Amino acid sequence: MAASDLINLSGLIDDAKCFALVRQHRWPEGACCPVCGSGAVIRDGHDDTQPHRQRYRCKVCAGRFDDLTGTVLAGHHQPLRVWVLCLYFMGLNLSNRQIALELGLDSSDTQAMTEQLRRGLAAKTPAVELTGEVEIDEVYVVAGHKGQPAAVAKRAGSDAVASWQARQAAARWRRTSRPSSA
Ligand SMILES: [Zn+2]
Repeated sequence: MAASDLINLSGLIDDAKCFALVRQHRWPEGACCPVCGSGAVIRDGHDDTQPHRQRYRCKVCAGRFDDLTGTVLAGHHQPLRVWVLCLYFMGLNLSNRQIALELGLDSSDTQAMTEQLRRGLAAKTPAVELTGEVEIDEVYVVAGHKGQPAAVAKRAGSDAVASWQARQAAARWRRTSRPSSA
């Protein structure tokens, strides 16, 4: 029996904390408008179907947005906690196939998710300044291999090595590029 039959990990994850995590990474200084960049925003209730997803209104441009607006996490059918777990498993150097098994997803969905996460949480919002560090990628640099990345990569198979290299490339890209051309 697979571990996933015994423990539904996704069901143990706190939605409120997942949204708090996104807010903290996205707006460490407090929410700001994805349209005009103003920090003069007020809270404007919560999403109708996701009670922890905060909505906001911009006092400058009157734009409306929420915690996920303009991120790769918006507009997808997977709940936020599945994305957060996916990110965590990527940090453990799991292959797409292993992640799909753990999360009960099909492999094409999983591949799409990991590709998007590698580009960064805010990759869909080129209008927003992404200069400096968008450091959700810490999660997948650290955990898991305990100083033995080669051993983990060997166990996980060559696709893990390839995806690790892709993550490195993506991380470099985020550190060195500006979104103006996107
Ligand atoms: Zn605005």
